[in-house]
Parts: sequence; structure tokens; C-alpha cells
Amino acid sequence: MSVYGGNQGFGTGGSGMSGSMMGSPVPNEHETVGAYALGILDDAEATAFEAHLATCEWCAQQLDELAGMEPMLAALADLPGSGTPSIGESLSAKPSPRLAEKLVDEVSERRALKRRRSFYLVAAAAALIIGGPLTVLAATGGGSDTGNQVAVASPAKTLFESLPDKVTATDPTTAVTGTVATAKKDWGTQAVLQLKNVKGPAKCSLIAVGKNGERETVSSWSVPNWGYGLPNAKTEEAKNPLYIGGGAAFNPNEIDKYEVMTFEGKKLVEIDA
Ligand SMILES: [Zn+2]
Repeated sequence: MSVYGGNQGFGTGGSGMSGSMMGSPVPNEHETVGAYALGILDDAEATAFEAHLATCEWCAQQLDELAGMEPMLAALADLPGSGTPSIGESLSAKPSPRLAEKLVDEVSERRALKRRRSFYLVAAAAALIIGGPLTVLAATGGGSDTGNQVAVASPAKTLFESLPDKVTATDPTTAVTGTVATAKKDWGTQAVLQLKNVKGPAKCSLIAVGKNGERETVSSWSVPNWGYGLPNAKTEEAKNPLYIGGGAAFNPNEIDKYEVMTFEGKKLVEIDA
């Protein structure tokens, strides 16, 4: 409950909190965006929210932000069929007043979940939204066991391709190639990393290094055994680059360079901003 109670971002419309998340069939309309993104609303709730979404910039913005987080939300949800393309696909598009039928199907599948669990997930989604862009992570590029995902562009990849500014570098020693796509935001710098020619297993971070010497972790991820972006790999998942999104409090013009580091402190590639 404190998740909602302490949050200024939600419920700007007033006192929609019923006091009991579990017992309230229709949460405050702005709060619904997280549940909507997860596809756990029933038809009536989804329809009501879509009507609201058509007129609410804030919710549209939240839904946009959530697009890049879908893999993480799906992982949190731990749902059968999570990570299937339909939600990510729908969310990576500009939210339309009426969502594709696909998503509606997804909703019907998922609304069988217990209320209690649903609200836990909403709370988790809300916590992520409250945490804001700095905690937004979206890792894609394989690692899912759903075979049909390969053909569908991931939200992080779509975002990567849409961001205007890109810098790239290949390390002469490790042969790892990193490309960072960025955009200036009110809150700092939005970044999506494309990583190629990296072998697993490894745990890595993308670090933004400021001109003032400060270091901010943009994102962290694991490289599975099969690796990412290996041109001569036998499997599709190992051929695909990793795309992972994140953010930094730096303004873009305050960033000197990016470093892809392993948790052991080995630098895989350094990219001048
Ligand atoms: Zn709203």
C-alpha cells in the first residue's frame, strides 16, 4: 500500500484511492496504466482505461515508457507465455485509442490470474514507474525460451533504431563492438546499447563516464553461455546482438564516454560519446 500512498505521480486527479488495493475493482484511472501494460485488466477495465488513455497525456507517456520495460515486467510477472511478442509489439507502437485484438486476447488469457497476484504485479509495475527512467531496464536479444520471439523486433531494438544519436566502437583486444544510441530527456540521457561479438557467461554493466569524472551505471545484464552478436554462431539467438536500454542522470553533453565493463572489472569496449 505504501507504494501507492507515498507516490506523487499517481492519482493526480485526486482521492481515487479506496484504501484497499485488493478490494477495489476499479483503481484510480491513472494507476491503471501499469496493469494495462501487463495485460491483466479484464475487458471492462481495459475499455474504460483506453477511453481515459485517449485523453490523458500522462498515461500515454507512462505507457510509452513501459514499452521498453515489458521484458522486465514479464519476468516479474513470471507468467506462462510472458515475453510473447504481442504485448511488446503493441506497446512499442504509439498507444492507440483502441489496441489490437491480439492484446485483447492476451488480456483474456491473463485475467484468469488471481486478483491478489494481479495487484501485487501492479504494485511492482508502479514501483518501477516511481523509480523512474533510471531504473528502466529492458534486456532482449535471446535468452527467452519462446522460439517465435526471434522474428519479432524487440522494444529495445526498435527504440535503438529510433534514437537519433549513435556512437560506436570496437575494442582492438576483445573485439567486442558496442553502439550506444541516446536521446536527451528532461531527466537526463536515455540510452540503448547494442552489443556484438560478446561471449558468455559474463555479467556486464554499461557505465556512462561524465566529463567531470563521475560514473553512472546505465544498465546491467547477463550474457548467457551462447553469447550475443557472434557472426559465425550456429544459432539465431547467438547471432543476434544484445539490445539493452537504460538511463543516466547526465545530460548528453555532460557524458565523455561509455564503458562496457564486466562485474570483475574487465573493460570489454570503450565508446567515446
Ligand atoms: Zn491518466
